[in-house]
Amino acid sequence: MAQSNRALYEQVILEHNRKPRNFRGMEDADRRIEGHNPLCGDHFTLYLKLNGDVISDISFEGRGCAIAKSSASLMTTLLKGKTVREAEDLFVQFHRMVTANPDAPVDEKAVGKLAVFSGVREFPIRVKCATLSWHALLSALRGTHSSVSTE
Ligand code: ZN
Repeated sequence: MAQSNRALYEQVILEHNRKPRNFRGMEDADRRIEGHNPLCGDHFTLYLKLNGDVISDISFEGRGCAIAKSSASLMTTLLKGKTVREAEDLFVQFHRMVTANPDAPVDEKAVGKLAVFSGVREFPIRVKCATLSWHALLSALRGTHSSVSTE
């Protein structure tokens, strides 16, 4: 990865960590799920409001490391207004990127802004931090569990 890209990516992550978007509870949520990553201590509650199969609102609260928090924050900004299907597709692309070989090129067209997390490929333990909110999202969309854990 180009050094300049990496510095830019780190800036975006730190900025979302400092000022997370949609960081609030939601009393009238249709779905509510807790996500827990015991290895790092990341623990978030994710809230969703659905209008048919469109995610009309999404928010989260809790605590976690910079990677987990900024990933949840960026996720909420990307998914508001998206369909369940689009959200699932984006997760597939994101998951493919963070679990790929570190030398593999990043498909920026497929992952869009999520490219800022491509650096976690070099730190497998961080992959769980980056994907925690996404796993919680999928579980909430499928409506099968009220909590998910990375372990
Ligand atoms: Zn973490």
